[in-house]
Amino acid sequence: MTTSDLSGQQAGAAEAVGETQSNGLARLAEGNARFLDGIAASPDPAGLAAALVAADPYAIVLGCSDSRVPPELIFDEGAGRLFVVRVASNVAGQSEIGSIEYAIARWNCPLLLVLGHTQCGGVAAAMDRLPAGADAVPADPGAVNLGPLLSSIKFNVGRASTTAPDPWLEAVRLNVDGTVEALQLWSPIIRARVKLGELAIVGAIYHVETGAVEFLEPAG
Ligand SMILES: [Zn+2]
Repeated sequence: MTTSDLSGQQAGAAEAVGETQSNGLARLAEGNARFLDGIAASPDPAGLAAALVAADPYAIVLGCSDSRVPPELIFDEGAGRLFVVRVASNVAGQSEIGSIEYAIARWNCPLLLVLGHTQCGGVAAAMDRLPAGADAVPADPGAVNLGPLLSSIKFNVGRASTTAPDPWLEAVRLNVDGTVEALQLWSPIIRARVKLGELAIVGAIYHVETGAVEFLEPAG
């Protein structure tokens, strides 16, 4: 292969990526236009627009970044009612806890939902053996920040039983429980509000196969 073949190939690949990116942007812009049309078509467009601006969250949701688990969609909730923090495998690192502390201090939210989900790729990657049906984490030496994230998940799922009927689901559950514990361990305001009964932390699992959310009993 000559140098010009190679550069031609690279230019072709860059063009393909560019086209994919502009297609994605166009799709987002079209979606936003439909959203704006929906506001305009509302019986009370000004009222709807005002409701979209108002922030009055009654619940905080710490969920996974997985594209199949958007909290506002799965809870059929409108803008302004959920304070959502999303991170791969819904772990509680400093930025996530800081965001939650802000919501508690700002709006006195009485409910904090830790939302895991079935088929969570981050949880699968943190397990000793990749569960059936899970994709391996693509190896890229540039992804240097992924290691600490996987370590957080590994810490939570370390107690997973290999004899559980569904070890992957068991690990998802342990990851939710571990996050619920970590939130109280690392945040004095969360701990205090829970103790006073002003804040309830509830774990839940979204089943991507059915769309159902399973609310968990507190870990014993
Ligand atoms: Zn996930």
